Amino acid sequence: SIVVLGSTNMDLVAYVPRAPARGETVTGREFRTVPGGKGANQAVAAARAGAEVSLIGAVGADEFGARLRSALEHSGVDTDLLRTVEGPSGTAHIVVDDEGGNAIVVVPGANGTVTSLTHGDEALIGTADALLLQLELPLSVVVEGARTARGLGVRTVLTPAPARALPPELLAATDLLVPNEHEAAALTGHAEPHAAAQALLRFVPEVVITLGASGCLYATRGAEPVTVPAPRVRAVDTTAAGDTFVGALAVALAEGRPVPGALAWASAAAALSVQRAGASTSMPYRSEIEAAAGE
Ligand code: ADP
Repeated sequence: SIVVLGSTNMDLVAYVPRAPARGETVTGREFRTVPGGKGANQAVAAARAGAEVSLIGAVGADEFGARLRSALEHSGVDTDLLRTVEGPSGTAHIVVDDEGGNAIVVVPGANGTVTSLTHGDEALIGTADALLLQLELPLSVVVEGARTARGLGVRTVLTPAPARALPPELLAATDLLVPNEHEAAALTGHAEPHAAAQALLRFVPEVVITLGASGCLYATRGAEPVTVPAPRVRAVDTTAAGDTFVGALAVALAEGRPVPGALAWASAAAALSVQRAGASTSMPYRSEIEAAAGE
């Protein structure tokens, strides 16, 4: 099984011809509310890819919180350890312009209350094949989660997003680091992915750098790096492509697939998600991934 320690947000998305400048009002064309948050997105991706998945995190005691929880459950994510806390759920206020560019404000809300693990959380992590982590919860609990999993012999998979400097104790408890190319460059100062991967291998044993339409690069100590091309598809919405990739990759590795095959499987899942609008709503189910991967 897979445990995710991470964020849950309601994405509030306004589609506009162009983003407003300070003090300006523009009229949007459309508005949508979409369940999101990197933690929830990775949990949904892994559950749809066929694993037993639990999400540790928090939603607020508001309408968004109820909807976020039911959306997770609808995708098969166990929410027994998802707290409901006083105050608002996390929200992401997203403005998407006609060129597909976006500007985002994230208000953590309930996510900010997840500052430590309970005994129940620890017990669950101990039963998992992998713990998936991102950086949208307070850093203290991300570090605690990684160290707990490491201590219990559970594989830790960290998506270092949103980009920020990583404390050494977090890197020291990370088995697999999965940055996109921008995060990899921010972490290492190397814009070239192979160079960034080699730099990251000084801190973690395995790295996958996702490269958008160019696929991904896998590197581990003492072996030649592996590049896996992305399937050529017509992308209409790449939101949460990375979260879909990580969720599916964790499932494939938990099932014991060797690395190249696991990467191809995750790439097939991510490629399916970019061909449909929406974030978690666009994530593929196992049968679709299998069909796309030629199984
Ligand atoms: P993020 O969404 O975190 O920015 P990327 O843009 O690197 O991450 O995308 C993650 C993965 O999603 C890629 O490694 C690739 O497998 C897949 N992907 C993203 N964009 C495309 C695309 N245009 N065509 C096919 N696959 C894509």
